[in-house]
Amino acid sequence: MAIVVPMEAGGGRRRLRVASPSTQEAIGEVPVTSPEEVRAAVARARAAQPAWAATPFAERAAIMRRAAELLRAQQDHYLGVCMRDTGRSRFETLMMEIFPALDSLTYYAKNAERILTDRRPGLHLLRTKKLLITYRPLGVVAIITPWNGPFILGLNPTVQALMAGNAVVLKPSEVTPFAGALVGELLAAAGLPDGLLQVMHGDGTTGAALVDAGVDKVSFTGSVATGRKVGEACGRSLIPCTLELGGKDAMIVCADADVERAAGGAVFGGFFNAGQFCCGTERVYVARAIADDFIARVVAKASALRQGTEGEYDVGPMIWPRQLETIERHMVDALARGARVLCGGKRNTAVGELFYEPTVLVDVTHDMLIMQEETFGPILPIVVVDDDEQAIRLANDSLYGLSGTVWSKDEARAVAIARRLDTGSVCINESSITYGACEAPFGGRKHSGVGQVNGEVGLKGYCHAQPIVIDRFGPKEEQVWYPYTAAKEKTLQKVIRWVWGTPIGRWMS
Ligand code: NAD
Repeated sequence: MAIVVPMEAGGGRRRLRVASPSTQEAIGEVPVTSPEEVRAAVARARAAQPAWAATPFAERAAIMRRAAELLRAQQDHYLGVCMRDTGRSRFETLMMEIFPALDSLTYYAKNAERILTDRRPGLHLLRTKKLLITYRPLGVVAIITPWNGPFILGLNPTVQALMAGNAVVLKPSEVTPFAGALVGELLAAAGLPDGLLQVMHGDGTTGAALVDAGVDKVSFTGSVATGRKVGEACGRSLIPCTLELGGKDAMIVCADADVERAAGGAVFGGFFNAGQFCCGTERVYVARAIADDFIARVVAKASALRQGTEGEYDVGPMIWPRQLETIERHMVDALARGARVLCGGKRNTAVGELFYEPTVLVDVTHDMLIMQEETFGPILPIVVVDDDEQAIRLANDSLYGLSGTVWSKDEARAVAIARRLDTGSVCINESSITYGACEAPFGGRKHSGVGQVNGEVGLKGYCHAQPIVIDRFGPKEEQVWYPYTAAKEKTLQKVIRWVWGTPIGRWMS
């Protein structure tokens, strides 16, 4: 059954009916925002933004702190809406949505002013001038988000864009609109002035209209295919964008790894959010020396995972039938080419229509779809390798480059491997948690994305760093101004000889 059903309502306005991925029961309906309404929202945001940009950091931060307080106090409401939209367990929702949201709100409230305060770096050569760098907000930022972290993936960039002095128009995924809308609800309740954050519901049509609505930047998170379209549209409009796209993350387990911890990490990395995690573990390369032990532990842990729709459980449903279709296409291909299922390997219809059992695969080869394309499901394919070199080569043999993990008791060895992985980030002896580390710049390489978000890089990405060069002494004229004369050339040659031809000059330059 479809989870999002388009409907015609009165006046020709489209609406989307959304159902629960756990039970397929209707959750509610949202109106699809028309392109005209999107443009009107951008105009409202543009009108509201200058006053916000002039608002001191302390006042902006106070709103974020208030939002954190409200979120903490009313977490049952926020948890409930997110759980209903996604079917995830309460603990997973708390860990993935609420905890990082609290951290994002308070981290940027505390640090934005320090990161975006004016800089006055000294000039190494042009000593008669001084330099001031200011970080000016871009204006109106469009934020377009996917369904797999519907609250945090909207809230986190919104907090950064707002703290940097921008207005935001947010288009959450049509698959999880109610969790997406919580971002607007929370910040409005915290006192964010009108017009600074507007949530536009709808599908790709609304997203495309938003990208084309005259915004100053697009912060997009989603699939490679849509990211490419968004990037093309931003290129046509000559506006900056960050594209946070899909992944096919590899896990490298070295011969000296703590096998028990690595097995736990593989199971968490592979099945967290039912595998619907951009930095989920989608491929495992384990050293032959420990492979049997590692695989046995992974299978035992994966087999113990509980699926469910209420109460205590570990692994929830696929968000919609499209995900199941991808999983089954990859599984059929893998099995036809000789892969073996050690556990799982089929839908779990006893729990619900959209559940797939946590699955461990071996005898996997690199030509299989399951090793090439993003699966985004609870499938853990394991390949046994001879050494670190083979693991690195296979890990890098991918169109994707989002994140990855390395497991070894020898930190130097693990870091050396990490430095050779063509990925946006790497975690050592830990599942991919980089997105949750506010200080860490986050973004993919290759087809996994363009640009980086979060921390100093992310905040500055919502600004234009404007250098202002100021003359210090005010002579009537400069040596290099008109008229150009032989005498002036002689002087300039002298300067060149001194600056780049003497030890003291070279030291200063
Ligand atoms: P998607 O690309 O289908 O949709 C993402 C958003 O884009 C939705 O809001 C959608 O309505 C909108 N959209 C669709 N067409 C559009 C268009 N032409 N112009 C503008 N917007 C448009 O992705 P999805 O299925 O919702 O999300 C899953 C994908 O997101 C996976 O590939 C996953 O790896 C990726 N993801 C990446 C990160 C990251 O940080 N790198 C994080 C989470 C998810």
